[in-house]
Amino acid sequence: MTSHNQELFDQSQKLIPGGVNSPVRAFKSVGGTPLFFKRGKGAYVWDADDKQYIDYVNSWGPMIVGHCHPEVVKAVQAAAAEGLGFGAPTAAELEIAETLCKILPSLEMVRLVSSGTEATMTAIRLARGFTGRSRIIKFEGCYHGHSDGLLVKAGSGALTFGQPSSSGVPAEIAALTTVLDYNDAAGLEKAFAEYGNEIAAVIVEPVAGNMNLILPKREFLDAMRKLCTQHGAVLILDEVMSGFRVGLQGAHGHYGIKPDLITLGKVMGGGLPAAAFGGRRDIMQCLAPLGAVYQAGTLSGNPVAVAAGLTTLKLVQAPGFYDRLTQLAKQMTEGLTAVAKKHGIPFSAQSIGSMFGLYFSANVPTSYAEVMASDKAAFNRFFHAMLAEGVYLAPSAFEAGFVSAAHSDADIAATIAAADKVFAAWK
Ligand SMILES: *Cc1c(COP(=O)(O)O)cnc(C)c1O
Repeated sequence: MTSHNQELFDQSQKLIPGGVNSPVRAFKSVGGTPLFFKRGKGAYVWDADDKQYIDYVNSWGPMIVGHCHPEVVKAVQAAAAEGLGFGAPTAAELEIAETLCKILPSLEMVRLVSSGTEATMTAIRLARGFTGRSRIIKFEGCYHGHSDGLLVKAGSGALTFGQPSSSGVPAEIAALTTVLDYNDAAGLEKAFAEYGNEIAAVIVEPVAGNMNLILPKREFLDAMRKLCTQHGAVLILDEVMSGFRVGLQGAHGHYGIKPDLITLGKVMGGGLPAAAFGGRRDIMQCLAPLGAVYQAGTLSGNPVAVAAGLTTLKLVQAPGFYDRLTQLAKQMTEGLTAVAKKHGIPFSAQSIGSMFGLYFSANVPTSYAEVMASDKAAFNRFFHAMLAEGVYLAPSAFEAGFVSAAHSDADIAATIAAADKVFAAWK
C-alpha cells in the first residue's frame, strides 16, 4: 500500500522548502516522514492515510477545547458570513479586549496582532521606546518567535536542529540580546549589577514550554520582578503558550507575579491566527497612533479569528474547566511514570495545568542543560512507537505536550496502555 503521507511529502518538498511551512513539522528531530493531517475532531486527528491518533500536540497549544468544537465552528461560520475582514475596527475587537482585560487584571490595555512572533517583537520595540534603552535579556531554551533579536540561541525549532542561532540574523542585532540561564537568579542579578541601566526589557516564558516543560523556580521569578523594578526595565512575560494553558490566568496568575507587559497567542485565537500583547497603561500609551512606537497589521483583529478566540475564551471560563484538565494531565504523567518504572526505564514526567513534559531522564529537569542531557534517542524511539500505537506526541524531545477538554479518561488510559506495551518491548 502506498502511503499518501509519503506521496504528499515527496511532492511538497519540490515546492516548499523541506516540504513544510514551519521547521519542527518536518520530523527532522525524530526522523521519518511527517504526517499530513486531513481532519480533526475532539481529541483525535486523522492523517492522509486515514490513520487515527489521540492528539497531544493540539496544533502546538491552541486546541484547548478539542478540534472542531461545535460552538467554535458555528461562531467562525457566522462571522465569515458577515464579512471576512474590513481592515477597520469592529465591535468584536472591543469584546475580546474586554474579555482579555477582565480575565487578566495585568492587562490595562491590549492590542491584537496575528501571531505570537508579532506580539513579542512588538513588545520588545515598545519596551525600548518606553525606556529609551536598547539591550534586552532572554534565557537560553526560551522561544519567543522568530524575530531577529530573539533568534539568539533560541529554542524550539532552532533547538531541534542543534543550531543555537539562525543564519541571516545580523551580529549587530544579536549583540543587543543577552542570553542567560533559565532559573538562574544569581546570573540575572549579576547582569543587572553590570549593566542594569542599559536594559530595556527582560523577556521570559514564565513556564517554559519550548525546551520540553521546565517550571520556574520561585526565586527566579521574584528576582526578575525585583530587578526590573529596581532598574527601570520592562518585564515581559511571554505567555503565548502558557496563557490559558497553565490556568485561566496563565503562569503569572498561577505564580502571582506581576508583569509590565504580557504576550498572548495560541489558545486566544482558538486555532486561527490571533495574538495580542498588553499590560501597563503608561507603556501601552506609547504605541501609535497615541505614541511614537509604530506597529500595524492589515489582518490584526480579523473578525473570523476573533470569533474563534472569543468563543474559545468563553468555553475555558466554564466552572471547573482547568481543574479537570489539570487532573487529566496528572493522570497522564503519573500513569506514564508508573509504567516506565515497572519496566525499569529511566523516565520522569510532570505537568502544570493542561501542559505536560515527558523526559527520558531519571529526574525531572529544572534547567536547559539538564533537558539537553536527557536521552534524545530514547525519546525518538518512544515517539515512533507511540505513533504506531495511534498516539501523536510532539515530534521533538524539546516540546511540551497538551491535553484538551476533549480528552476523556479512556483516552488517557489508552495512552498509558500503549506506553506499557511500548516499554514492555523496549529491551
Ligand atoms: C509559539 C510561541 C511563540 C511564537 O508564536 P507564533 O504564533 O508561532 O509566531 C512565541 N512565544 C512562545 C512562548 C511560543 O510558545
